[in-house]
Amino acid sequence: QQINAPDNLESLLKRVHEQAQKLSEGVVANYIPALAEVNPDQCALTVATLDGQITSQGDSQTQFSIQSISKVFGLMLAMERVGDDLWQRVQMEPSGQPFNSIVQLEWEKGIPRNPMINAGAILVSDVLVSHYSASKSAVLSMVRNLCGDDHVQADNRVHQSELEHGSRNSALAYLMKSFGNIEADVTEVLDHYFWQCSLTMSTEGLARSLAFLANRGTCPFSGKRITSHREAQRINALMSTSGMYDQSGHFAFTVGLPAKSGVGGGIVAIVPDYGVIAAWSPPLNSYGNSVRGMEMIRKVATELGLSVY
Ligand code: GLN
Repeated sequence: QQINAPDNLESLLKRVHEQAQKLSEGVVANYIPALAEVNPDQCALTVATLDGQITSQGDSQTQFSIQSISKVFGLMLAMERVGDDLWQRVQMEPSGQPFNSIVQLEWEKGIPRNPMINAGAILVSDVLVSHYSASKSAVLSMVRNLCGDDHVQADNRVHQSELEHGSRNSALAYLMKSFGNIEADVTEVLDHYFWQCSLTMSTEGLARSLAFLANRGTCPFSGKRITSHREAQRINALMSTSGMYDQSGHFAFTVGLPAKSGVGGGIVAIVPDYGVIAAWSPPLNSYGNSVRGMEMIRKVATELGLSVY
């Protein structure tokens, strides 16, 4: 695999970022006021490589709502805590449905298709709430450690408005509960889920935090082992097949990298043995994926020849 030298990277990112800013398609998430008010022009692109270099363009230090990207953090903690038992309660199959879809949950008796969609992440939240006396603190200290930043925090306003507008997610949780697949109190599970969605981070922070996935489980910045190589491969596999919701196939076809998006407009893509590409811009396409974010990652991956396929 021929990958460009870092001094080319700076100008590549600059060009890709400039072109992406011209894209005008997409709509900012508007299901809660706290997200609807975000300035749609913001745009950030970061590449972190395994030699410890971080190269960015645009608003790469601006904190934004990571939303569904938090599903990766929750999953890591649950995998560590309960091991393979987790896969009795959530599948590892792409859903081919929108991230907040409910239909398959009834057909499949309350077992979500995968941990990257809402139902699966709510299930994971149940595991965390049931196994930790303080599940939020457990997630927060893990994320702060990964990021190397003690200031990472949840956005209280986003958390509260998610709770107020959470009917669909409540329906998912209660349906799973009715099948016996939620152990803890549903209110507590949903509170944890919405809280983790409301964590705020920058593209630089996300790139640092998830670089271990590109480095066989070891953080390239701290040298600390975060997960086994096998667990990192499994998380990457789930991101490849389900991380972009029902656009995961399209993303594999056009970009070819494990990735996770969130409705805050962030996307993190993992390039095994190379690094991480993190992008953020709030306007979303109809699948809930950032329009500019996808385009920036596609261009960088194409120009550098990064597809894992
Ligand atoms: N908080 C959002 C929800 O639960 C997260 C979804 C997402 O980022 N796709 O609907």
